[in-house]
Amino acid sequence: MSLIDQYNREIKYLRLSVTDRCDLRCFYCMPKGFDGYEEPEDWLNFDEIERVIASFTRLGVSAVRLTGGEPLLRKDLPVLAQRLSALPGLDDLSLSTNATRLGKHAQALHNAGISRINVSLDTVNPHKFKDITQGKLEKITTGLLQAKAVGLDPIKINMVIMKGVNDNDVEAMVDFCMEHGFTLRFIETMPIGDTGRNALDHYISLDIIEQRLAEKYQLIPAVMSGAGPARYVQVAGTDLKIGFITPISQHFCDTCNRVRLSATGTLYMCLGDEHKYELRHLLREGISDSNLDQVIRDAINLKPLKHEFNEKPEKVVRFMSMTGG
Ligand code: SAM
Ligand code: SF4
Repeated sequence: MSLIDQYNREIKYLRLSVTDRCDLRCFYCMPKGFDGYEEPEDWLNFDEIERVIASFTRLGVSAVRLTGGEPLLRKDLPVLAQRLSALPGLDDLSLSTNATRLGKHAQALHNAGISRINVSLDTVNPHKFKDITQGKLEKITTGLLQAKAVGLDPIKINMVIMKGVNDNDVEAMVDFCMEHGFTLRFIETMPIGDTGRNALDHYISLDIIEQRLAEKYQLIPAVMSGAGPARYVQVAGTDLKIGFITPISQHFCDTCNRVRLSATGTLYMCLGDEHKYELRHLLREGISDSNLDQVIRDAINLKPLKHEFNEKPEKVVRFMSMTGG
């Protein structure tokens, strides 16, 4: 079984948002003081999530990433991870987190079948970290070291690069990742929600960052496991791999293999578009497994050919944390 959209792209990957809440306020993602969250009774419960993911796996999806908001704010997340990792056909269960609570939960997550994680970290300068996120860097480094200690591997660090904010922190991040054996990935800022649009003032193409690094290090092409669109290089003579995720300067829509499920059961076909399909009411009205499979097949055909971040940066009004980043 496979899930093919109308542009002949095979959907193999689902990003599952388990909450729209977050304990940080990265300025490009969520506004300071934001509290317009969804009601928890509208969140899919674990039984409902498991039904939807089981349907996707029947249709050929083999990779699921837990995300949010901050997924570690969802109570009993390791219980959900355990249930999902037991589903036949699901080969790759991973997690995106800000790591504030990773120190506490890393072992349980690993035991539950999560083998690899992505952690957002835009700087290793504590003052700048506070400015960007309103949080404390120390918690993140504690979480990262604990994740490494329990054997989560690889640990990929996602750094959103912003001109005049953290573009000069790239070299320090390279040193940090080299020292700890983490993979470093750079991401271009996207105009998602007003917060993302405000951050566009700081947009910088990753080409410039790559050229700068190439003056200091010898960079050789590399490959890295994972279901995403990053292009990788390796720093010669070291184990450090660096990934470039370039939704703006060089979009990768023609090979897009993913859809996103929000905490409230809305299936979003594209991060940069409003195309969506609501599943929650169908689940609560008792839809059968075979009808659910069919609904998902039909919904996939709503997936647009490409995002329009460059042509229509005003288009996406919801914040990244609502869709599931
Ligand atoms: N809270 C978790 C975290 O921060 O990793 C998971 C959710 S977060 C929304 C997922 C990713 O989206 C993070 O790597 C974050 O940096 C990225 N992100 C959020 N808003 C963005 C924007 N406007 N442009 C580019 N990346 C963004
Ligand atoms: Fe929270 Fe992640 Fe958004 Fe930062 S990027 S505010 S950690 S959801």
